[in-house]
Amino acid sequence: MSLREQLCEYGRRAVELGLVIGTSGNLSVREGDLVAVTPSGAALDRLTPEMCPIVDVEGYLVEGDLQPSSETPMHLAVYETTDARAIVHTHSVFGTIVATTMTELPPVHYNALLLGGVVKVAEYATYGTPELAANVRTAMEGKKAALMANHGGVTVGATLEEAFEATRLLEWLCEVYVRGLSVGKPAILTDEQLNAVVERALNPPAFPRRL
Ligand SMILES: [Zn+2]
Repeated sequence: MSLREQLCEYGRRAVELGLVIGTSGNLSVREGDLVAVTPSGAALDRLTPEMCPIVDVEGYLVEGDLQPSSETPMHLAVYETTDARAIVHTHSVFGTIVATTMTELPPVHYNALLLGGVVKVAEYATYGTPELAANVRTAMEGKKAALMANHGGVTVGATLEEAFEATRLLEWLCEVYVRGLSVGKPAILTDEQLNAVVERALNPPAFPRRL
């Protein structure tokens, strides 16, 4: 699948799963110095490959008739300082709730480790600005995900599939935490508990074979 075809495929899935509505949210995928990104002002479930612009890592338009997503500077800022090859940004409900009410998403489930543990909320700045790009880059340091204050979430991956799955996981973790808060006081996993999970994952016990 070409980079642009991938954007169409995962854009459609993002809408189907309710991670974005209307023309909100944007995706990009990088190969070498080129980045295919979803266009500005288009619904993600109605994209065609030709609609998706290609920019270079310096932000120059290389191919396409439509303008790249307004959040392209944020995508490029993250590419500049990480080895990410794909980025997904959505305004998913529970991610946005956490991003409007908290300064971070604490690890209430060990799967948070897949995103780097605590997910930080980047300071608020107007959408599409270099300030927002810089804030996201800071919050994303050493992580696979960040939330953007009063805005939404962003995840990275080595592939678009990976970045997309990270977005689904981020939304699930936010939902568990937000719903948990309405039931009681969610317990936060300690560093010791999280370290034990890493240890366990690195050294899985082998089941003895019955002879
Ligand atoms: Zn946005």
